[in-house]
Amino acid sequence: MALITQRPKGTQDVKPDEVYKWHTIEKIAAETAECYGFKEIRFPTFENTALFKRSVGDTTDVVQKEMYSVSAKSPANGKDPDDFTLRPEGTAGAARAVIENGLLNEALPQKVYYIISCFRHEKPQAGRLREFHQFGAEMYGSSDPSADAEVIALAKSLLDRLGLDNVELFINSIGCPTCRAEYHKALKAYFESRKGELCPTCLDRLERNPMRILDCKSPICQDIAKDAPVILDYLCEECSVHFDKLKSYLGSMGIDYKINPKIVRGLDYYTKTVFEFITTDIGAQGTVCGGGRYDGLIEQLGGNPAPALGFAMGLERLIMTMESKNAPFNQEKKCDIYIGAMGDNAQIKAIGMVKALRDHGFLAECDVMGRGVKAQMKYANKIGAGFALILGDNELESGKANLKNMMTGEQLEIEINDTFVEKFTYIRMADVLAGELGV
Ligand code: ATP
Ligand code: MG
Repeated sequence: MALITQRPKGTQDVKPDEVYKWHTIEKIAAETAECYGFKEIRFPTFENTALFKRSVGDTTDVVQKEMYSVSAKSPANGKDPDDFTLRPEGTAGAARAVIENGLLNEALPQKVYYIISCFRHEKPQAGRLREFHQFGAEMYGSSDPSADAEVIALAKSLLDRLGLDNVELFINSIGCPTCRAEYHKALKAYFESRKGELCPTCLDRLERNPMRILDCKSPICQDIAKDAPVILDYLCEECSVHFDKLKSYLGSMGIDYKINPKIVRGLDYYTKTVFEFITTDIGAQGTVCGGGRYDGLIEQLGGNPAPALGFAMGLERLIMTMESKNAPFNQEKKCDIYIGAMGDNAQIKAIGMVKALRDHGFLAECDVMGRGVKAQMKYANKIGAGFALILGDNELESGKANLKNMMTGEQLEIEINDTFVEKFTYIRMADVLAGELGV
C-alpha cells in the first residue's frame, strides 16, 4: 500500500527512539528558566495577522515572505473572514497574552518562558525548517541593563547545562529612536550611493526602513552592507551608558562576549541591546539563539508603555549542535522488568503484577501479542529489560519464581505474593547503584 501523502516539506517527525533528545532540552530549559525566576506561559499557535505585522514589522523578511496566513473560508456571521497567521515566533504572542491578562499590573518584572512550535515559509535546508521549535524567555517592566545581563545569562546558563561550550556570544546596541534617527540618515545616504545594486526588496526598504537592508540574505546586499556606517558610532548618551553597564555586568558574571556592530536582528521591534549566540559546528545556520531589548513593543501593541526584552533559541539547531559535540542527552527510561507467562492463568497473574509494578513507578512489561514464552524473552532482550521473570503453572503453585538479572545472568528466587513489589524495589535499587558504581 502506498501512503496517501508524505509529511509537508520543511517539517519533521520525531520518532519515539529520538524523542529523548527533545525531552532533555525541554527539561533542562524549563529547569534553568525556573532558576532565573521565569514561569511558563502558554498562548495560541495562531493569532490575528495584524499582531505580527505590527510587532515583527512589515518590512521584515518574516512578514514580507515567510508567514503562513490562513482564513476561515466562510464566516458564519457573513462578515469579512478573520485573517489569522500561524505564529512565526513567540515574542508577539507572549506580549499580547501578557497585556491581555493584565500581568503588567502585577509585581514587576514579569518573567515568562515558553517552548513552542513556529512556522515560517522558508527554503528548507539543514537547520532551517518550515515548522521549527523555539525555547523563548521574556522579561517585562525593567529598563535597567542588569535585566539585559540577566536575560543573556539565562541563555548562556542553558547552553552550559546542555554541554555547549562551543557557542560564542555576540552583542551590539542598535540604539533608541533618538539615536537611530541620525543613523538612518547616514545609512540612507550610504545605500543611496549604491542604489543600483540593491535587490528589489531592499530598494523598498531604503525608503521605509534602511536598517533592514543590513539583515538582507542576498549576497550582493550583504556585500554592500559590509562598508555601511555602524550604529555604535551614533549611540546617544543614554544608550551608550546602557551598553557600557551591560558589558560590566557580563564581565562580573564571567560571560565572554564579542561586540559585533553588524547585528541588527531580523525583527523590527528591537531597541538598544541585541545579541546572538552562534556556533560554527552545524554549518551555515549557526545562530542558535537571538534576542535583545524591545522597549517600544508593549506600547505598539496597545499596552501601557513598559520596557521588555527576551530571546529565542531554535531547538532543532540546539539538538544539531549537541549531536555534533557528542554532548550527553538524558537517556530514555528502560524497561525495569519483563514478566513472561506460560498459559492463561500465568498471564492473568502477570497482568496483575505488571499493573502493581507500574503503580509503583516501574517500567514493567508483559506480553500483549499472544506470543510463546521463547518469543516473549526475545522481546524482553530487545527492549533491554533489566530483569525478567517467567510465570508458569509451577510458579503459581509454589508462589515463587526466578528473577533473572538480564545483564549479569544471576538468578534469585523470589516470592510472587504481596511482598513482590517491595522486594523488587530493593533489588532494582541495588542493581542501579551497582551499575553506577561499576561493581
Ligand atoms: P536566521 O537569521 O537564521 O534566519 P532569524 O533571525 O530569522 O534567524 P529569529 O527570528 O531570531 O531567527 O529566531 C530565533 C531562533 O530561532 C534563531 O536563532 C534560530 O535558532 C531559530 N530559527 C529561526 N528560523 C528558523 C527556521 N526556519 N528553522 C529552524 N530554526 C529557526
Ligand atoms: Mg530568518
